[in-house]
Amino acid sequence: MADNHADFIVLGAGPGGYACAFRAADLGHKVVLVDPRATLGGVCLNEGCIPSKALLHAAEIIREARHGNDWGISTGNISVDLDTLRARKDGIVAQLTDGLRGLAKRRKVQTVRGSARFTGTNTLDIDGTAWSFDQAVIAVGSAPVRLPGWPDDPRIWDSTDALDLREVPKRLAIVGGGIIGLEMATVYAALGAQVTVIEFMDQIAPGADAEAVAILRTALEAEGIAIHTGTKVTNVKAAKSELKLMCEGGFAGEIKADAAIQAVGRRANGHLVDPHAAGIDLDERGVIHVDETCRTSVEGIFAIGDVTGNPMLAHRATHQGHVAAEVASGHAAALDTDLIPSVAYTSPELAWVGLTQNQAKERGVAHKVASFPWAASGRNLSSGGGDGLTKLVYCPETSRVLGATIVGRNAGELLAECILAIEMGATLEDIALTVHAHPTLSETVAFSAERALGTLTDL
Ligand code: NAD
Repeated sequence: MADNHADFIVLGAGPGGYACAFRAADLGHKVVLVDPRATLGGVCLNEGCIPSKALLHAAEIIREARHGNDWGISTGNISVDLDTLRARKDGIVAQLTDGLRGLAKRRKVQTVRGSARFTGTNTLDIDGTAWSFDQAVIAVGSAPVRLPGWPDDPRIWDSTDALDLREVPKRLAIVGGGIIGLEMATVYAALGAQVTVIEFMDQIAPGADAEAVAILRTALEAEGIAIHTGTKVTNVKAAKSELKLMCEGGFAGEIKADAAIQAVGRRANGHLVDPHAAGIDLDERGVIHVDETCRTSVEGIFAIGDVTGNPMLAHRATHQGHVAAEVASGHAAALDTDLIPSVAYTSPELAWVGLTQNQAKERGVAHKVASFPWAASGRNLSSGGGDGLTKLVYCPETSRVLGATIVGRNAGELLAECILAIEMGATLEDIALTVHAHPTLSETVAFSAERALGTLTDL
């Protein structure tokens, strides 16, 4: 018998792990929540979603101030005090992680600081202390992928380094034009860096709707961000005065930079908990496979979040966390949906859910497309918004919505209506006949539906 025993133990206190621990406590379990960090919240709160949103907000303030002249409002020279900005970001993170500590305490969740490894099917080692458990949940997340062959140099950053905001380099190269790459490009361009994004695929935000991505790309380029798609970095030299990135493909030549961010995806952290010792298989990408009830191949052990593979998104992890806690408590629960929304909090935002037009085409799904250009949205123009688009993919037979993409200000918030519409099996008529407030950006969803139905009077 181990020194310590847990009825229900959760490994990892990110948005998946803490949500699972709190739900299990609410369902009557005595819960232990383990994490090596001093604070709860994992990557999302400490060095991911939340700090990046704080910096993106600062970037938006800068952009709004710069565009003030268009409205006759002059703010003079904009200067940024990095120490104050960093402190503000860190303060927001501290407020949220302190809040989580309070929530854990209220639920009598025991938090243990340390790194856990399985030693058997119901035993663990946590920093040298033996534990046994009845049920366990693996929620140990993911880590940034490091590109092989790059030199070891402090000027080469991952997303965590980028969010530390140590300095604003004069020239910043960002390798990877996915969500992290584009968000960091948005932040550092606003702070004054000359940013170059190098993306391997033919499109930034690969997988998103091409028409919407083209609008985002034009807007990013208008902010001075250089974007090279279909481009591969073949060699990196860390000279004393600068980094030199040799590229081939869409852009062939050398990019000189004072810092470079690698934003080429994340790798599941499965290996960290030694799952083989418990009889759980790990694939070559570090992923632990689970079914829709979040069960692993071993009875009583669940896995949730990034460690279970793509899409590696906090909101998926949270839902899986609830499912695991409920299934472990004998409830009938499952995450039986493909509808995991994606949002890039760039300026403008890009948000999508369900099938894109391209995916529908590739998969041979019968579909039609309805869209509304934001140039015709009164609310968009009157709030200084640029180009934007709302696009619905729907079934021509039933007029049910199959997917949605929105590019424009607050696209991430606007997408919620579309996610609910798809989950509820709403038709275009349901959306068009729902009275949307005027003037709002949400009208663009209803206008898209009206356009498809031939009832639109705003175009
Ligand atoms: P990503 O998978 O979104 O993007 C990585 C990009 O790098 C891709 O476009 C890929 O084609 C490109 N790439 C890969 N290898 C390359 C190479 N050698 N050279 C050039 N380009 C290369 O990954 P990410 O942006 O690093 O984000 C990691 C994870 O975190 C993702 O799952 C993402 O969804 C998630 N995340 C989400 C949010 C959000 O929801 N707002 C924010 C940050 C991160």
